[in-house]
Formats: sequence, C-alpha cells, structure tokens
Amino acid sequence: MMDTAIVLFTRDLRLADNPALTAAATAARHVVPLFVHDPALDVGPVRAAFLAGCLADLRAGLRARGAGLVERTGDPAAEVVRLAAELRAGDGTRQIGVACAADVSGFAQARQRRLAAACEGAGLSLRLFDQLTVVPPGELVPTGGDSYKVFTPYWRRWQAVVRPGTTPAPDRLTLPPGLEASAGPEGADGERAARKRLATWRDTWDSYAEGHDDLAGDRTSRLAAHLHFGTLSPRALLDGPEAFVRQVCWRDFYAQVLHAFPRLTTHPFKNVVEDWVDDPESLEAWRAGMTGVPLVDAGMRQLAAEGFMHNRARMVVASFLTKHLRIDWRLGAAHFMALLEDADVANNYGNWQWTAGTGNDTRPYRRFNPVRQGYQHDPRGEYVRRYVGELSGLAGPVVHEPWKLPASQTKGYPKPIIEL
Ligand code: FAD
Repeated sequence: MMDTAIVLFTRDLRLADNPALTAAATAARHVVPLFVHDPALDVGPVRAAFLAGCLADLRAGLRARGAGLVERTGDPAAEVVRLAAELRAGDGTRQIGVACAADVSGFAQARQRRLAAACEGAGLSLRLFDQLTVVPPGELVPTGGDSYKVFTPYWRRWQAVVRPGTTPAPDRLTLPPGLEASAGPEGADGERAARKRLATWRDTWDSYAEGHDDLAGDRTSRLAAHLHFGTLSPRALLDGPEAFVRQVCWRDFYAQVLHAFPRLTTHPFKNVVEDWVDDPESLEAWRAGMTGVPLVDAGMRQLAAEGFMHNRARMVVASFLTKHLRIDWRLGAAHFMALLEDADVANNYGNWQWTAGTGNDTRPYRRFNPVRQGYQHDPRGEYVRRYVGELSGLAGPVVHEPWKLPASQTKGYPKPIIEL
C-alpha cells in the first residue's frame, strides 16, 4: 500500500462518484485532499462566489470524514511538489502518489503538462482520471478523425456505450500526521445543493421534452454550474428522459471537440474566412440589453441580473450578435464567460461557434429571427415583460414588436438598432 496520495481537486468538487478520490482512498494509507487557489485563473466575481460555496461544502464533507481540505495558493504543479517535499521532510523514503481529474481546455491541458513534468522531476507517480464527462474525450473517434465534428453520429455511438451507475463517497480519510487542513468556512452550497436540486428536478424532468424551450416557464434543470464545477457527476443524470440525457451528451460532445482542438477559444473550428464588423456602439447596446429588440434585450438583462440565461435566449442573442450585427463571436463569448455562473470553456465556445457558423452546426447560415422566436417561445410575452421593465405594462405578445405601438406606451424603450 502506498503511504500517501495527494488528490488535487480542480473542478471535480465532490466526494461521491469521484474516481480520483476513491482510488486514492483505496490505494494509500494517508490521503491529502488538496485545492490550490491559482492566481492565474481569473474566474470573475460570479463564478468566484459559486466556487466559494463549492469549497465550503467540500471542506465540510472532508472534515466529516476525518480529513479536511488542504489549501494552498500558487501554481498547482509547483504547490503539489512543494507539499510533497514538506511531507517527505520527516521521512524521505515516503512513497507519494498524485491523483487528479483530466481536463480539456488549453489552460487545463497546459496545467496538466506542467504537473506531469513536475511530478516526474520530483519522483511522484501521477494518475489522471477521466471523470469530467460521461464518456472520456477522445474515447469515441470517427474513422480517420481525432474527434466527432457532427453531433448526431456522436450521440448514436455515445448512447451505445454509456453505463449508468455511480460510486459512493469514501467513508473515511486520514491526513498524514502533522499536516493541517485549512480552517476555511463550511457551507452546503456545493455537492449537497447539487443533490437537492437534482432531487427536485427529478420530479419534473419528464416534461423536459415539451418544456425546455418555454422561456417564461424556466423549465430546465439549472444544473449547468454544478456540472461545470463537478459538484454533481454527469453520470448521476443518465436515468433521465432521453431529451434531457441528449443535452448531457452535448456537453460530452463539446468536451471532446475542445480536447482535440484547444484553440476553439480563439480560432474558428471550421476552415472559414472570417469577416467581422468593428462596431463598438452596437456591441455596447447588445451588452447592455438596449438593442431595441425585446427578446435579445430580455436575455441580456437576465444574464446581467442572474448570471444565467435560458438556452433559447442564448441562441437568439448569440445569433443576433454574429449574424445580424456581424460582430465577432469572440467578443460575445468573452462577455458570457465574464457573467455566466455556468461559464464553461467547452460549452460556451462550442455553442458560440455553432451559432456563429464557424463551428459544428451543419447549417452554418441559419439565423434566428428574434421576433419570430419571441412569438414562438414566449407566446404571451411574459419572459420579455419580466426582464424589460420599460415594456412590463404592456399586455400580450405585442411586447415582441413594441415599435408597432405609440411611444407613450413603451416608456423610453429604444427603437431597434438595426432593421430586422
Ligand atoms: P438543461 O437544459 O437542464 O440541460 C442539462 C445540462 O445539459 C446542462 O446543465 C448542460 O450541462 C448540458 N447542456 C444543455 N444544453 C447544452 C448545449 N447546448 N451544449 C452543451 N451542453 C449543454 N452551457 C454551459 O454549461 N456553459 C456555458 O458557458 C454555455 N454557454 C453557452 C453559450 C451559448 C451561445 C449557447 C447557445 C449555449 C451555451 N450553453 C452553455 C449551453 C446551454 O445554454 C446551457 O448549458 C443551459 O442553458 C444551462 O441550463 P440548464 O442547466 O438548466 O440546462
């Protein structure tokens, strides 16, 4: 049996169904659950607050199992090696292993390479675990390619290989003697909140297929941030209805795209010539939810107010920016990264490129008409009224075309910045 295993948590902030943690607990006498606050990783205030909640819950769960969370600040690779050296100070022959979840972004892949080099240099054995997705990125590949570029064939193969079933959290964990866990605060906003949310969601998920596009009804799981930070294992969702599991598969799909093409954040996925317009004024109107197009503005204002936007609205606002205003998807994606609680490199950039026509859409020239989308998915205008205060006094779906009404009824709401 190994003496000590360091489990480097990144965005797998859970105790249940965490293979890296389970393997460490099985293989080693002592386990060091470690989180390194990396100053190079700027997550912005919305995600920082969510992360703080996740860590508080993780601390509580680990303390309850006898260990606690060890926390450091710096470059994770350097901190792992430094910690291992501290642990060896008393016993130089101590065998130490490192376990960590594999991840897919360019930033994470670079961190993994640094970690692998640092561990090798320090004589630490490193194991990376595929636990970010249901099916590991790169496991399913089409003939002659490194990743699936189109969703439907991926979905077919994915369905054939997925196996439901999760592993429980380890009962007990023991820190090496002399090592102090952090004294940070405890809370229940991470793994426990995710499990609670899932329990409630299970009661209604049967209506996902007909309800997920209902903007005002808000009938989606709201689990994306938990999935991003790993407070919930995606494998815990596989017994859901097919329409919902399909969305979980989209998440796997974009992870395997990013794994194979980490430049997704900066480079078009497809070999296309890009020709974007430099229009700071329209970009600002879009960001501020002041384009004069009600569904677009409602979505952008929901984002600013809640750190969340309904998926249907995300598609409409992204299409409006890239296809109507002809503004670069990179600018829209960066705004989403800054404000979304569930901001996720693979899902955000994958979807932005899909919408902009530079990514995985098989119909790259499609463009959403924001007025028609409004009548279709917000037929009573409730979603618009909820977020666009100037229009809240209007009745019915006419909120989607306020320019048809006298200005006295629309309380200073702007005219559309472009002709639709
Ligand atoms: P549900 O509808 O309940 O879906 C369940 C889960 O499936 C989600 O939590 C998510 O993990 C996954 N999922 C659903 N739709 C997609 C999708 N289209 N692509 C990939 N995974 C999906 N999702 C993010 O998690 N982070 C992002 O940064 C992000 N940015 C987006 C940007 C744009 C322009 C668009 C069009 C979509 C984006 N999405 C992103 C996908 C989707 O909008 C969100 O996952 C979803 O709205 C989150 O709400 P929910 O958890 O209630 O989703």
